[in-house]
Amino acid sequence: MAQNARSPWEKRHQQWLDFVLKIADAFQAGRAIPLGPSSTPLVAPTPFSTSVRSTTILVASPHPDDEALISALPLRLRIETGARVVNCAVTLGSDLSQRARRRAELESSCCALGFDLIVPGDEGLDDVKPQSRQSHPASWQEKVETLRILFDRERPDAVFAPHEEDFNTTHVGTHYLVVDALVAHLAHSHRPPVLLIETEYWHPHSNPNLMVGVTPETLAIQMMATAEHAGEVSRNPYHLGLPARMMDNVRRGSEVVGGQGAPAKPFMFAELYRVTRMSAQGEVPPQRGGLIVAPDGELRLSDLENWYWPSAAGDSGLTPQNDGGKLV
Ligand SMILES: [Zn+2]
Repeated sequence: MAQNARSPWEKRHQQWLDFVLKIADAFQAGRAIPLGPSSTPLVAPTPFSTSVRSTTILVASPHPDDEALISALPLRLRIETGARVVNCAVTLGSDLSQRARRRAELESSCCALGFDLIVPGDEGLDDVKPQSRQSHPASWQEKVETLRILFDRERPDAVFAPHEEDFNTTHVGTHYLVVDALVAHLAHSHRPPVLLIETEYWHPHSNPNLMVGVTPETLAIQMMATAEHAGEVSRNPYHLGLPARMMDNVRRGSEVVGGQGAPAKPFMFAELYRVTRMSAQGEVPPQRGGLIVAPDGELRLSDLENWYWPSAAGDSGLTPQNDGGKLV
């Protein structure tokens, strides 16, 4: 054997090194894709399906960019069923001098996603933090009323908001504000319970019950919209890290949602959520366990409701073993 022949260790290491370098190359290539807000608006195509156009999804976003980062499920509902998605920008960030920029980036992102945009009070709300709920109850109540009136007007079928342990104080504050406003809205409107779908970004949810698979095409829309927030992603490239985060969601969700020791689902990208319902009296917990939805197919909001609360219609529309990954 020649003295300089590579050892089995070195040969195998080279194979893995090539793999890692390809990922690094892809990341670098992503840096060359222009950031927004695009001078020519990136207008999202109209969905091919309009089967449930009357459905309204409201995404309560703590900051501009959150609407894109956690958008897998709202985006799928819009594209696959024609649901109307409204992004409610709970804040435009705390730095007053940056709000005009953040708003322009947000408008551009919502355009790319095909989401409507509502900014409460034109500049968003201030001090949406859990401490403010305790220390400034009167001002907190004003914010609850603002959102309650918005809910009264939009009458959402589902509301997305961060979970209560999502690390960032404005994310946690948004959780409590949405819960308080949703309860007030339901008491005021006498509507039946409404879906509350909790999102995660800064800290994993301790108890997710839904893994939504995402196609590369859908993930690319999420990245495109996130990249419209040039000011944010120049500081931290959230858009470029999104595929890795959503790959890791498949690892975690396959077991945390699917059951400890369960095999990984045969798709690459996913987002995790917790689905529950709110009534005027508080939470109406789901009656069934975790659900995993494959990346393709037509996913309707009613399918989710009927899965978690089967007594309502009897048939979730989602049946076991229909595609090797749809149900747990
Ligand atoms: Zn945020």
